[in-house]
Amino acid sequence: MIDKDSIIYIAGHNGMVGSAIWRTLAAQGYLNIIGASSKELDLRKQKDVRDYIRKTKPDVIIDAAAKVGGILANNDFPYQFLMENMQIQNNLINEAHRLGVDKFIFLGSSCIYPKLAPQPLKEEYLLTGPLEPTNEWYALAKITGVKACESIRKQFDKDFVSLMPTNLYGTHDNFDLNSSHVMPAMIRKFYEAKQNNNAVVVLWGTGTPKREFLFVDDMAKAVVYALENQLPDYLYNVGTGEDLTIKELATKIQKIIGHTGEIIWDDTKPDGTPRKLMDVSKMHNIGWKHQVDLEDGIKKTYKWFLENIENFKTNQLKG
Ligand code: GDP
Repeated sequence: MIDKDSIIYIAGHNGMVGSAIWRTLAAQGYLNIIGASSKELDLRKQKDVRDYIRKTKPDVIIDAAAKVGGILANNDFPYQFLMENMQIQNNLINEAHRLGVDKFIFLGSSCIYPKLAPQPLKEEYLLTGPLEPTNEWYALAKITGVKACESIRKQFDKDFVSLMPTNLYGTHDNFDLNSSHVMPAMIRKFYEAKQNNNAVVVLWGTGTPKREFLFVDDMAKAVVYALENQLPDYLYNVGTGEDLTIKELATKIQKIIGHTGEIIWDDTKPDGTPRKLMDVSKMHNIGWKHQVDLEDGIKKTYKWFLENIENFKTNQLKG
């Protein structure tokens, strides 16, 4: 049983998702949350992970550590996205299992589902067709993580569960234009163009793909829900159940930021999968639902971006 004294290790606690989980748990009175930065612990190294888990004796591990990136980074570094993600999760899952950690929450992504699966995506569509090529490397790694947790659950009756979030965004996101996802990229591009006399903003692809977005604090609440309850199944989608086109997203962000210049679509850049809307009825049925709507979430993220803008100044990359 989990209580406020349980030792909860968040792998990846400095990332957008991990830090949101940490804040949410701390606000709810959890007293023994632990984490190690990538400098302190290289999760790709099996022995180091083993030593860390042996030393800290967590009751629960939340795996929010991964090599992540937007559509171009995934496309350009397939080996790292496949191998580093498998190394990180294999070390965490296997050492947790070996050292007797009874509860493990594995976080993945909606890209694990086949590119042309029926929409909205149900958990049961996993492994029913080919993946989207721009992120199949990351997706494959995450699928093996889901299956590793499922097999431990099945064979050893442990509470190893996987949550698959839709596209996440929010405070502490990555605003580097070469490796970021679309939401932080748009916030940064519209902001910088506005500062630059409403210059033209160049966005990628055709703008026709549809995406669903979940504010990271809502994801953190789903993780806390999985922590405090034994979920009856091995895999759950976490999202809002609503999507919009990338063009509609651009217009929304442009309006919130107040950019009045032109938008150009660079269709030499990839569109990615046409749509990946999640069916979130399984999470709804057990009692979790998102709370932050898209407009509100964008405003919160933009506020955080403005408050932290100094940190991005050294990093003016061209998108
Ligand atoms: P995906 O959901 O895995 O495809 O990853 P992204 O969040 O990186 O991209 C989502 C969609 O936004 C794709 O169709 C991109 O082509 C489009 N997009 C438009 N402008 C940008 C941009 O400036 N950066 C990124 N990363 N994507 C963009």
